[in-house]
Amino acid sequence: MTSTNDHIALRVTPLSKLKRTGPLLQGPMRKLENVQFSSWIEDALPEVLWCTLIITELPREDGLACFRRILRKVTEHKDVLGNRRLEHSRLAELDAASFDLFFADECKTATVPAALAPLLLLEDLPDRPHWLRLLPAPRSDGWDKLADAIAGTFDHQSQAATDCRWFKVTTVAALGNIVLPREMEERRKELNEYPDRGDMSFVRPSIRALEMTFRPGSAGEVRTEWLNDFWQEGWRKTECFLLNPDDGAKIVQHEQLFKQLVELSEALTRHFVETMEHTGVDAKHDSSFGLVFYITHLLFFSLKGIVGQTIPGRIILRTAVECYITLAYLAHHDNPTVWMQYRHYGAGQIKLAFLKRINEDDVPSFISTELLEQMANHDTWLEFQDIKLGAWADRNLRDMAKDAGEKAFYDRYYDLLSGYVHGNWSAALHSVFGQCLNPLHRFHRIPMPPRILIDDAVPDLKKICNLALDKLAQMYPPFKPRLREARPEAAAEEVVK
Ligand SMILES: [Zn+2]
Repeated sequence: MTSTNDHIALRVTPLSKLKRTGPLLQGPMRKLENVQFSSWIEDALPEVLWCTLIITELPREDGLACFRRILRKVTEHKDVLGNRRLEHSRLAELDAASFDLFFADECKTATVPAALAPLLLLEDLPDRPHWLRLLPAPRSDGWDKLADAIAGTFDHQSQAATDCRWFKVTTVAALGNIVLPREMEERRKELNEYPDRGDMSFVRPSIRALEMTFRPGSAGEVRTEWLNDFWQEGWRKTECFLLNPDDGAKIVQHEQLFKQLVELSEALTRHFVETMEHTGVDAKHDSSFGLVFYITHLLFFSLKGIVGQTIPGRIILRTAVECYITLAYLAHHDNPTVWMQYRHYGAGQIKLAFLKRINEDDVPSFISTELLEQMANHDTWLEFQDIKLGAWADRNLRDMAKDAGEKAFYDRYYDLLSGYVHGNWSAALHSVFGQCLNPLHRFHRIPMPPRILIDDAVPDLKKICNLALDKLAQMYPPFKPRLREARPEAAAEEVVK
């Protein structure tokens, strides 16, 4: 069976294939020993900036032809370069005559000078004096051209980036510093004749792998100042361009669902009364209905305004997930002791909070001391109550979900949603920041005002509400009402600016 996520699944290592070491699921590339981790953006791209301009400004064939002409000169003048590649920091070490051996002819062609002229905007460029001799003044769109070059090569696996990386590798080969054994003759030909020989789905990754061995951290490679200076200069001299990741978010209308929920709540209240056996403590009855009502109330408030499309919508959903797993666990055991265990734990927590605040002046605002005392004495005088510390069922929610046969449900929701409750970076990244679309700024993050998110937590809450009703109906049958699909015309009406 195929799914809409099949194309994503092809790109990543599935969870089942990740190696686990203690609490760590290791990234597959991390398994490789003696491998230095380096970044195309941080450790390589600025040094071949001129290549990125050539390959993004000229038609690809013309750009590659330019690279090949320069490579021939590298072969002819190995002694001039020594071990240097044609990278900005190393080119700065050459005298004018040596530099011109490689670039003077190119800078007399019809297209290369204009393509490279934006380099002159960079005052910190190490080999700027050489380019000043050979290039015309950049046009007014120079920064845009630099941004286009970065955008086109930012993805380290893109064709344009691979072309630049090929040039870097082939320069080393032209200098005679890559020696391949005789049985790898075909690999050598593929490298020489790139991109016209071999299976590109194999050739391109092997070029990229080879290029990574010529970065800072590898043998003989040093980290140059220009790798940082380039990004600093781009940041200083160009403006941010903020993208709201939820641009075009529409407020989802939930009127129909709201009406359904009101009717459902009324039916549920009637069912509660009809299934009551007495007015005393009935832990199973109170707790099961209590949890279901808690979920319906969470849904109720999520339907108010835009809550389902906000951070609180995720926090509410996380709570509903825990409520459902708790209910499923209780229903699975359906044991008077377990029902009481759940109730006593809650009562003990109220008592604990009450006792902790008796002598405090600075008390939380969300609940009054009077109400706490009243709740603490609800079932019985609090002096008769124990306080249980830790988890109420002596197990975490994951184990409870497994026990209740709800592990798949837990896996679907729990971890990421918990991030919103715990203030994990995942939650801040999703909701607090927009992205700067200026490629010269490396697509950094920019804080944004609180915003409406494109995705809505309400359909999940509705689903969980129905699941909880199923559990309740099994314990207290019959109860048929469920929340139904809203008619499609009710969806997404108002565009948020
Ligand atoms: Zn920016």
